[in-house]
This record gives sequence, structure tokens and C-alpha cells, in this order.
Amino acid sequence: MKHICILGSTGSIGTQALQVVDLLRDHINIVGLAAGSNVDLIEQQIEGFDPDVVALADEAKADLLRMRMKGKRVEVLGGQEGVIQVATAPKADMVLSAIVGIAGLIPTLEAIKAGKHIALANKESLVTAGSIVMKAAAEAGVPILPVDGEHSAIFQCLLADKRRENIHRLILTASGGPFHNCSTDELCSVSPEQALRHPNWSMGRRITIDSATLMNKGFEVIEARWLFDMDVSKIDVVIHPESIVHSMVEFIDGSILAHLSTADMRLQIQLALTYPERRTSPVEYLDLAQAGRLTFCEADMEKFPCLGYAYEAGETGGTMPAVVNGADEVAVSAFLERKIDFLKIPNIIKQAMEAHEPAINPSLEDIMAADMWAREFAEKTITQHSE
Ligand code: NAD
Ligand code: MG
Repeated sequence: MKHICILGSTGSIGTQALQVVDLLRDHINIVGLAAGSNVDLIEQQIEGFDPDVVALADEAKADLLRMRMKGKRVEVLGGQEGVIQVATAPKADMVLSAIVGIAGLIPTLEAIKAGKHIALANKESLVTAGSIVMKAAAEAGVPILPVDGEHSAIFQCLLADKRRENIHRLILTASGGPFHNCSTDELCSVSPEQALRHPNWSMGRRITIDSATLMNKGFEVIEARWLFDMDVSKIDVVIHPESIVHSMVEFIDGSILAHLSTADMRLQIQLALTYPERRTSPVEYLDLAQAGRLTFCEADMEKFPCLGYAYEAGETGGTMPAVVNGADEVAVSAFLERKIDFLKIPNIIKQAMEAHEPAINPSLEDIMAADMWAREFAEKTITQHSE
């Protein structure tokens, strides 16, 4: 029996993870759940999975939940402290880290320090603080099992041969998002609704917008850099609109291994939770004849400059990736609130990068400070823009 906690249980990954757990009740027990503010949904999840402890980051919502849970055996906590207590719950062996944004960083780090195995969806913890997170995991001797589709694919390909001298490059696939075929002119006027309509995946709002700008793919390059200890120059991106090949590893002899499946995140979530075992899953088997044609083409970094910015930030390292993430979090929210146009997102990130003096070998405090600086910078830029 594996005992797990889910951070971000009310989100897209969190709810899909609970679907997986529901079918593996002989194998997985839920110890704790944490989320932002969705009282009704976490209440349903408490009823369905009987956790020992839950937390809502929003204190007022946590108070409301505590009232509703009066007389029940579940312990209800609030605030970031509460989320961290769920992340470090003594009974848990594993934590699924699926909070969105840099808000996931500290709880993930605390879980690692407490010796929990990590199933990692929260890519922002590696994007912003990859060196610190990977060092902490090595020191604690805990594995970080990727949930992100591309990284799960590469992880699975590397099971065949992970000797560094044999690996030529990692190839991340990208769907291209909803605007793959739009011109730059058309991109000027796309609405949040259009950007939220991802062709192949249903995901949280932030990652869906990041998929439309290709920022998500850029973050995944940095995530892969840390997970697989590869230089960013050896990580390529190729557009693959069918989202059937989830990523590939090329070896020095020219062989490429790929991971293919139906596009359904429950596969990657389940593997991270059951690894090294595999179980049957609710994911439909892939019908290749039905898929018919798999196509690939180059990513257009002129039309989607965020991808290039991520490569640049990945090369620079230090606090630069945290600045890109912080500026992007603010810019994406502003776009969703219709305060800025779609193309202003890359523009704000670029300005933040140009204005930032990156610290090399940053401490956690340096990273949090860079994040805060980038947020304030982006907010200011947006206010000036709308005046
Ligand atoms: P989402 O917006 O659907 O869910 C986010 C979850 O985090 C919610 O449960 C929310 O309540 C919780 N949350 C937000 N702020 C919090 C805080 N301060 N403290 C505690 N909980 C908080 O997002 P998502 O799409 O599920 O993505 C989650 C993470 O997984 C992101 O890092 C994303 O990049 C990554 N990811 C998602 C997918 C996907 O298919 N959705 C795929 C790959 C990677
Ligand atoms: Mg992904």
C-alpha cells in the first residue's frame, strides 16, 4: 500500500489523480489533500477518499471548511503552513505536487526534506529553483517522478538506456496550441476564450495560456534540464499537432526512442504514482490506424518568442528563470482579465528579462526575491500600459 498526499487536489491534475486513485484503492491510500480555496470540491473529496488531513491555502475558506467538518475525523488546516503540514504528513510516503505556479515551490521542497517521494506536476518548482530542488532531492535520497507528459515520456525512454555518453539529445514534442496556424497579425486580437480552447488537452487556465504562447514548452525545456541533467542546448522542441508522440530521446548512433499513447494525463499521473509497477488504467489504448498520420514541424520562435526567452533564461540560469515565471504568471492573469492583449505577454516577459540583473548560484531567498521583483515589474508595466 502506498500512502500519498495530493497538493492541488481540486485542479485539473489533482482531480484526474483522484480518478486514478479511485481505481487503485487496493494500492493507494489518500493521507492528505491540499488546495487553494475550493471548499465544495474538497468537501466532496473528503467524503470520497477519507483523508486524515486537508488544507486550504485561503484561511477564510479553511475556517468555513472546518465548520462544515465539525464532528468528522478529518483535521482541517489553513494557510501556507497548513499546506506544508499536508506536504509533510508523517504517514505519507509520496506527495503528488500539483499546485499551480511558484506557490508549489516551498511545499514541494518541504515534502522532499521530509523524505517524501515526489510525483511532480508543478514544473514551476524546477523552473524557478531547479538547482535547489534537485540538490535537496539528492540529499534526502528521494526520487522525483515526472508527471508532465513530455518528461514522463523521456523518463520512460531512458529506462532503455540512461548512460549519459549514449544520449545525443532530448526531443520535446509540442502540440503548437490553438494558434499554431495563426499569423502574427491574427495573434494581436485573440481573446482569452480562444486561447483557452486547447486542441488536445483540458488543463488549468494558466498552463493552457502558456501552451498558446509556447511558454509552457519553454518551461518544459528548463524542467527537462534539471530532471535529466542535460544542457539546454541538447534539448530540442518539435511541433507535433496530434499529441500522440509525447517526447523522444535520440541516442548517439541515431536511434530515437519515443513514447506514444492516447492523449490522457491519467496515464502519466498513474505511472508516477505506481512506479516501478504498471497497472491497467482507464486510458484508452491507442489505435494507430485510426490516428493515421503523425506530423512534425519546426517551432516558430519569431511568432512565439516565449520559447526563445525560456531557452535564453535556461542558459543564463541563476534567478533569470524565476523572473520569466513571475512575469508570466502576472501577464497571463492580466490577459485572462482582459487588461492586456495576447502579444503583450511575451513583451512583458522580455522587458522583465532585460531589466533583471540575475544572481548566479541563488539561494531560495534570492529566488523568492527575484519572483517578487518580477511580479511587481510586470504589474507596473501593465498599469502603465492601461493608463
Ligand atoms: P489548476 O489551475 O487546474 O489547479 C491548480 C491547483 O492548485 C488547484 O487545486 C488550486 O486550488 C491549487 N492551488 C493554487 N494555489 C494554491 C496555493 N497557494 N496553495 C495550495 N494550493 C493551491 O492547474 P493544473 O492544470 O492542474 O496544473 C497544476 C500543475 O501541473 C501546474 O504546475 C502545471 O504546469 C502542471 N501540469 C499540468 C498539466 C495538465 O494537464 N493540467 C500537465 C502537465 C503539467
Ligand atoms: Mg507538458
